[in-house]
Amino acid sequence: MPTNLATAPEASISEATRLFVDSPRKMLIDGEWVNAISGKTLSTFDPSNGNVITSVPAAGADDIDIAVHAARGAFESSEWRDLRPVDRERLLLRLADEVEAHGDEFAELECLDNGKSLVLARRVDLKNTVEFLRYIAGWATKIEGSTIDVSLPRPRDGQYFAYTRKEPIGVVGAIIPWNFPLMMAAWKIGPALATGCTIVLKPAEETPLTALRLGELLQKVGYPKGVVNIVTGTGIDAGAPLAAHPGIDKIAFTGSTEVGKLIGKAAMDNMTRASLELGGKSPVIVLEDADPRAVISGAASAIFFNQGQACTAGSRLYVHKKLFDQVVGGIAEKAAKMKLGSGLDPATQIAPLISERHRDRVWSYIEAGKAQGARAVTGAARPDNAGYFVEPTVFVDASQKMRIVQEEIFGPVLVAMPFEEIDEVAEMANDSPYGLGASIWSRNLNEIHRLIPKVRAGTVWVNCHNMIDPALPFGGFKQSGIGREMGRAVIDMYTESKSVCIAI
Ligand code: NDP
Repeated sequence: MPTNLATAPEASISEATRLFVDSPRKMLIDGEWVNAISGKTLSTFDPSNGNVITSVPAAGADDIDIAVHAARGAFESSEWRDLRPVDRERLLLRLADEVEAHGDEFAELECLDNGKSLVLARRVDLKNTVEFLRYIAGWATKIEGSTIDVSLPRPRDGQYFAYTRKEPIGVVGAIIPWNFPLMMAAWKIGPALATGCTIVLKPAEETPLTALRLGELLQKVGYPKGVVNIVTGTGIDAGAPLAAHPGIDKIAFTGSTEVGKLIGKAAMDNMTRASLELGGKSPVIVLEDADPRAVISGAASAIFFNQGQACTAGSRLYVHKKLFDQVVGGIAEKAAKMKLGSGLDPATQIAPLISERHRDRVWSYIEAGKAQGARAVTGAARPDNAGYFVEPTVFVDASQKMRIVQEEIFGPVLVAMPFEEIDEVAEMANDSPYGLGASIWSRNLNEIHRLIPKVRAGTVWVNCHNMIDPALPFGGFKQSGIGREMGRAVIDMYTESKSVCIAI
């Protein structure tokens, strides 16, 4: 039993949140709150103690079919289609205001359902969601094509006028994971609504609650029925039929690379457009001249943020051999002092993982690391309590081929390895099927700029990690996905380009 378990205070959940979880929830289809046709439900659990919070409908293919038809009807309705861009912007801004006004409730629901710290839910999940919605609202009025000077043979006494227009892609199916549930819902719903699409969103079975609460606010701010449908259920019974439904024009997915491949294949059968934001194994590269104090704090937060349950978690640490002992020792010391506890406890630094199944999966990687010869300098002990906790763990004596170096663990487990030469570390960093994020820590601008183009990752941070901004395109190289979220790039993912050529 570790000594650093924070003691949870009396649960400080507000009356509004209590009321929300007091009775079984329904899902939102075509403007109505409904049960699954089968009547089946799924329980959702508090990861800090394993208790049932409430239940949600367990949708199946029939429910998905109705939701997709509702989204199609809404897409073609004049009530939605005829809204001016400025009206779509206004609705999204109102939604952002409502989410902000109910921020405490959202943070509490996220903390209960996902297990994450209430402090983090407020500072990261909620803040990013509100800011993202405001940012993407602005895009509704800035969607534009271009005029193009074509070189076609001129018609007699005439010429051609050619241009492109950007049109909403249509009905979007969206499937999201459990690590940042509200934020992920906003990252899909926001661009869909800004561009004039309609959407069927399936949250993860572990964390459906904030998406359902968001559904209530979408109704409150005045979205027409069917524009946003939120369908709860498992990946197999609800996610797979959504991805394969011929009635959707685009699928937007965030989650594991394994499921992303299944979704990509299902999409290809119908030529459904797909954007896939998948797993990662992001390297943190520390050059010889880096500031060790900044690295210790930055690298610890790169991996232990959200219990390591982040697709960009800095899970591989490559430190120049001159700084290796100092940096790894500093991170291990920090990790050993981190308080484990309920997300409701403000003292908690490491909250529980999402589920028993996931905790066991992370634990199996710790066992695999030991079995393959890596050495844990801290952590790697099983906390003896009811929640799904894993101690922050730091491995050394590892080699590139080990599973803990190659595979996405999605928990608070760091593997540190030394290097000597820049080319050597670039090769080690790229020796991964993934390419989502990477960070470089150094004060040498020349070395930094020489290294950036060599690192195969969708985002490279310098002297920081996990910095995600609504304006900065985000997505992966290699098996970390296809497409980009955020910025102008996300608008392209939710629109079709139509070329128009007029003989005049
Ligand atoms: P999954 O990829 O399995 O789940 C993500 C979403 O996909 C969930 O909504 C899930 O539904 C749904 N889903 C699952 N199977 C299918 C399917 N066959 N067809 C359509 N949708 C499906 O991630 P997990 O939650 O199971 O986590 C497993 C691992 O994935 C983690 O340990 C981590 O390595 C990685 N991961 C990466 C994330 C990232 O942000 N890149 C996020 C989450 C996980 P449901 O949960 O309801 O079954």
